[in-house]
Order: sequence, then C-alpha cells, then structure tokens
Amino acid sequence: MFKASMGFFFKGVNLLLFFHFLAATPICSKAIATTKYLDFAKDPRVFDWMVGIRRKIHENPELGYEEFETSQLIRVELDKLGISYKYPVAVTGVIGFIGTGHPPFVALRADMDALPIQEMVEWDHKSKVAGKMHACGHDAHVAMLLGAAKILKEHESEIQGTVVLVFQPAEEGGGGAKKILDAGVLENISAIFGLHVAPNLAIGEVASRSGPIFAGSGFFEATINGRGGHAAIPQHSIDPILAASNVIVSLQHIVSREVDPLDSQVVTVAKFQGGGAFNVIPDSVTIGGTFRAFSKESFMQLRQRIEEVITGQAAVQRCNATVNFLDEEKPFFPPTVNNGDLHEYFKSVAGSLLGVNKVKDMQPLMGSEDFAFYQEVFPGYIFLLGMENASSERLESPHSPYFRINEDALPYGAALHTSLATRYLVKLNQDVPVVEGDHHDEL
Ligand SMILES: [Zn+2]
Ligand SMILES: [Zn+2]
Repeated sequence: MFKASMGFFFKGVNLLLFFHFLAATPICSKAIATTKYLDFAKDPRVFDWMVGIRRKIHENPELGYEEFETSQLIRVELDKLGISYKYPVAVTGVIGFIGTGHPPFVALRADMDALPIQEMVEWDHKSKVAGKMHACGHDAHVAMLLGAAKILKEHESEIQGTVVLVFQPAEEGGGGAKKILDAGVLENISAIFGLHVAPNLAIGEVASRSGPIFAGSGFFEATINGRGGHAAIPQHSIDPILAASNVIVSLQHIVSREVDPLDSQVVTVAKFQGGGAFNVIPDSVTIGGTFRAFSKESFMQLRQRIEEVITGQAAVQRCNATVNFLDEEKPFFPPTVNNGDLHEYFKSVAGSLLGVNKVKDMQPLMGSEDFAFYQEVFPGYIFLLGMENASSERLESPHSPYFRINEDALPYGAALHTSLATRYLVKLNQDVPVVEGDHHDEL
C-alpha cells in the first residue's frame, strides 16, 4: 500500500451526522462493551505477546508469496489459541474461524508481506535479512489481527456468528487479495474490515472516509524500437531516445489536457532505459511507469490513452512501440472504495471505543491498496490507525528504509478489529432474524 506519498489532510468530524446516525441505528443493548476490548488488548499479557510477535516477524521479513515462516508463525499461534483455519490459501495465506462456525460471517484482514528495502533503522529487532524490510507495517498488521484473535477466542461465547481472519500474502503489488478471493474460501461474507498503520496520525486516532479512499493503480512498460547506429551519423539511424522523450512529454498531456481537473489522476514515467555509450544511438529504449485513478472508468480510459499515445507518438518518429500492462506480474488494483453504510457503522464503533473526536475524516490518497479486490465482491471498509506520538521522534512514511512502528498502537488495532467484527455480527442478527436450523450456507 501507499505507493504514493502519505501526505493527507483531515477535516472535522461532522458531529451532527454522527449523532444523527447514533440516534437512527442504535447498536444492540446486548453489544459487548468495546472499551473492555481495549483494556484487554492493553493488558501486558496481550500487549507484550503482540509486541513479541511483531518483532519476530520484523526480524524475518518475507516478500509477497514467500511468507512461509510468517505464515507458520501465525498457524502456531492459532493452534495455541485453539482456532481452526484453512491453509494454504493463495500460497501462504491462512484463513481462521472463530465463533459459532455458522452465519453470519464477518471478515478481518491483515497483509503479511515485506518490501525489498534495506532497513536503515538501528534497533534490537532490525531486519536480519539483507535487502528486505517490513517498511509498510504489515508485521504490525499481523500482530494486531492475532491480538484480535486472542481477544475473540477468550470471548467466543459472546460472538453471534463467525469471525473470519484473513491473513493474506502479497499486498505490495502481488494482488494477494485477488488470489485469496479466487481460492473461493471467502463466501457468504457480509462485510470485511481492514486497517493500515499511519505514521502522521496521532496514536488513539483513526481516519477514513466514505467512498473512494485509495486510487486504482496500474503499471505499464513500453519498448520503443528504432534502428541503432553511429551517433555522429543520425540520418542512418532511427533514434528511439528522441522518440521515447517525445512519448514521455505527450504522456504528460493526458492528465493535463484530456482529464477533468476535478477527477484526480496520475501518469508517471518512472523508468527510462536505453543506450550505453556516448557515441551510439541504441536500437531500442524501454520506459515504464504507473497510472492512478479513482474510478474504474477513468482508470480504463487512462490505460487506453497511454497505449495510444505511446504507439502513436513513437510512429511520428518512425519507431515501433509495444506496450505491456504487466497484467500477470503486477495486476492492476481497482480503486479502494469504502461502503457508505460501513462508514457510518465504523464511526459509531470507533467513536465509542476511542472518543468521537478521535475519529477523523480524511481526503483520498493516490496510493493504492489491494483491499479493493475484496470490496468488489462484498461490502468492505478500510481505515488508517494512528501511531504518532507528539513527544517522540517523527515517524517516517511507509516504504522508507527509516520506517518505524509505534508499538503502542497495537492494542488499538486489535480492539478495533474485535469491536468491528463482534458488533457487526450483533447488528446483522438484529437486522436479519436467523432462521432456526438454517445452517446450509456454512463457509
Ligand atoms: Zn506498502
Ligand atoms: Zn501497506
């Protein structure tokens, strides 16, 4: 997640709307007091255990679809907790089940993968694998979901349905969420919740929004073929360097001239490879980059225009171009779109757990999240979890080699996961009366 920068802005919570919602949809009186979960998660017995798990995973980061030891660690802890699970799902994924084993089903998701980054933070639990690092906080995400699993298991008799724990591989560009869905293990899910740690949001605070929250993201690579030759005799060559340069300039005109300025989109060329000598015009140049948009329609239009502009502009310079959207290696992520009803529900639950003024509205980010794949299949909601402690050193953005986790945030994530799942099951049971003996649609 967060392939783009983490800069974002908050606007005040609409208190009127919030209180209106509380009045309109009261949570069942049988609902478990959510603050109980936060106290439980802060208890050293749970907190120290989560910190230990997070540090262990941090020391041994694994890239997408290679999370074998991380996955094993998760299964060992689930075994100890007496929680059943399915494995392997999507190579390294683990799907756990807590509760009655019957509908309704609510899912909680944590991603497990690390990044190909050399950690630059000097501390006792620094990555022991050269060139790999948990620089996006997925180690903390796993620890928080295991924390929720522990809390849920100890309150299993109060769960009015089944909580499905989704430990997924390969969020960082590998589309692990898509593979989990393709495995067919998530059926009859009423809602899915996910979170992401945020370094520039205060600890004890959360932020999210209704509707598009993260952009859809795709990648492209193009080879522009000319004819190489002597740099001093250009008339005998077809220069792909000049063609590629014009292609790049023309690509910048798509967003600036063809797109509605109020519909945020990005086209960035981040890769340019061609030539190796001062006096040789190369045969070909390869360029590559990413594009982002907040609706599937805008995204597909962008994709089409990128291809047309590259091939058309290359032809102007007598070159041939081929464009590859890397559908296999880097499948495109759809825009992450939070369900509106779940947004109101989230504000109610997080507000009662953290305090209404700790639940912030945020602007959308151009970064992307493969959580979007779940949201295409069933209602889903993702939010940012604050880690910033004003009195300590500033935390770096995700994907920085200096990225650090404030472990004090772990209990908040675990308690929010737990509250969101259990109270949603209560809500579902209120909304749709359970038919006696109707257990045919087990997961
Ligand atoms: Zn990331
Ligand atoms: Zn991430």
